[in-house]
Amino acid sequence: MTVLRNVRPLGGDAVDVRIADGVIAEIGGGLDDGDVVDGAGAVLLPGLVDLHTHLREPGREDAETVATGTRAAAAGGFTAVHAMANTDPVADTAGVVEQVWRLGMQAGYADVRAVGAVTVGLAGQRLAELGAMADSAAGVRVFSDDGHCVSDALLMRRALEYVKAFDGVIAQHAQEPRLTEGAQMHEGPLSGELGLRGWPAVAEEAIIARDVLLAEHVGSRLHICHVSTSGSVEILRWAKSRGITVTAEVTPHHLLLTDDLATTYDPIYKVNPPLRSRTDVEAVRQALAEGIIDIVATDHAPHAMEDKECEWAAASFGMLGLQTALPVVNETMVRTGLLDWAEVADRMSSVPARIGRVAGHGRPIEVGEPANLTVFDPDAEWVVSASDMVSRSRNTPYAGMVLHGKVLGTWLRGRPTVRDGSVVEHEAAR
Ligand SMILES: [Zn+2]
Repeated sequence: MTVLRNVRPLGGDAVDVRIADGVIAEIGGGLDDGDVVDGAGAVLLPGLVDLHTHLREPGREDAETVATGTRAAAAGGFTAVHAMANTDPVADTAGVVEQVWRLGMQAGYADVRAVGAVTVGLAGQRLAELGAMADSAAGVRVFSDDGHCVSDALLMRRALEYVKAFDGVIAQHAQEPRLTEGAQMHEGPLSGELGLRGWPAVAEEAIIARDVLLAEHVGSRLHICHVSTSGSVEILRWAKSRGITVTAEVTPHHLLLTDDLATTYDPIYKVNPPLRSRTDVEAVRQALAEGIIDIVATDHAPHAMEDKECEWAAASFGMLGLQTALPVVNETMVRTGLLDWAEVADRMSSVPARIGRVAGHGRPIEVGEPANLTVFDPDAEWVVSASDMVSRSRNTPYAGMVLHGKVLGTWLRGRPTVRDGSVVEHEAAR
């Protein structure tokens, strides 16, 4: 039995919360029996749910494993993550998605939901065994070729039709491949100056426009990964006004960082889609506030040192995200007055859980609900350092920056995965 003393559910008044048998057993005042954790007036949130995480296992265990990635997730306040399919081998069969799901359970730091590939080998040629992955023990509901776009319109239509049978969703990495051949950074005045091949906004927007029309035609659920441009926001606004069942995510880095960081030529800032202009950043913040963009997803993309510490053109795309997501959202959305804590809980826990059809997560903070919980001190100042990263990789773009907010504790079904700001070491949980 654990008592979280003096915590503020969704930023409201301070209360004590008793956790017993994996659920919230009591919410009140003056509770002090059992193992007492002083919440110090910090915000209590439902455990965060990430719809977009790269855990790199199987295949690139030098960059991340399910165990190290879920430890980073816990450190960031997450209790469930969706593991993207671009592993080696690709998660395009029931066997691989079950392997990833089981590794998550063995590690015990966060519930791991495997994302299945849409096409065999992410090659965009023929559909993977979507039904078999859905029926497997992993119970896949989210399918994505992330890293690649499902660019063939007929294949995209078939995928949308197929997943309707089991209430699945296609998560599209919207990137028209011909428009982005060799692209290195946001196409704008700077890309010309720096001599890096430009990545036009229309490459993202053209695919989103096509896919919302396909989703409407088929009557299926579509999710757009990592929206980065103001034009994408306008298309989503139009699609939602028409009642099309599309949801969308934005990453923490697209809420904060801009394309001018490329002037450093430091590949730590090289990411897909690229960091955009100040105007785009303002647009995606506003869209997240309005609910045109539904959720924040990290696109946590760990890379081994040799894949990032090289010249820009040769470096891999991607940056870490799990441990810094909540501080960055605090910085860009809460401290700016765009979102309150109840809305943050919505966009980082309840709605992603609903899109991914994840049971037991993103629930209200009420008696009888599973104790998947996060305690976050929004005022703590943090000079981010690469050595703070719990991930196996170190490619954080925030090193040296001051962010506000620290995760003090995370509980997965009533068991602490983080306490006093540190990951709790434990034997395999189940
Ligand atoms: Zn992607």
